[in-house]
Amino acid sequence: MKKFEDAVEFHGHACPGLALGYRVALFALKSLGRRAADEELVAIVENNSCAVDAVQLVTGCTFGKGNLIFRDYGKQVYTFVKRSSRDEDPARGKGVRISIDWTPPEETAKEKQMWDRYMKGDHSAEVLKAVHNRKAKKIAIILKAGDEELFKVMKGKFDLPDEAEIYPSLRCAVCNEKVMEPRARLRDRKIVCIPCFEKE
Ligand SMILES: [Zn+2]
Ligand SMILES: [Zn+2]
Repeated sequence: MKKFEDAVEFHGHACPGLALGYRVALFALKSLGRRAADEELVAIVENNSCAVDAVQLVTGCTFGKGNLIFRDYGKQVYTFVKRSSRDEDPARGKGVRISIDWTPPEETAKEKQMWDRYMKGDHSAEVLKAVHNRKAKKIAIILKAGDEELFKVMKGKFDLPDEAEIYPSLRCAVCNEKVMEPRARLRDRKIVCIPCFEKE
């Protein structure tokens, strides 16, 4: 099992968003079983924030494998569906929908004041230290919280996106670079890529 430190190394810094994503990923694996070596587990994420990096690293649902689906809804909602659980209906699978519903602890007057100064461009050592400590405190709380303090969870059957497919490559008549067939466009009866199609 990946540790939070592994997620920090992958993501580049420790932040509360990453910690939330890490907890989401752990909960998904606890609910649905092992990490996705191939495509058996699919993650549908409704934002592209820091949290998604932890989801990718810990669950093995990655952008490159096609089993991480991004829906640009700006919501802290993560749905995981298992392909191997397909039975009578191959388009649906057993899954869990995790909606983050966490209230950070109330800021102290001192913390508020430091944050204000930070937002106004004060990056003095004193302010930076206070902002860093506040972040570290939040991360520690998230990593220790009970699941029920962090998420609302719905278990059941969910729709599965189509499996990643491999398409033949065509050559763009304008830039001469290769483009996969479903993304190719036709202009003046010539095959072109989307960037060339959209030019002029
Ligand atoms: Zn981050
Ligand atoms: Zn082109």
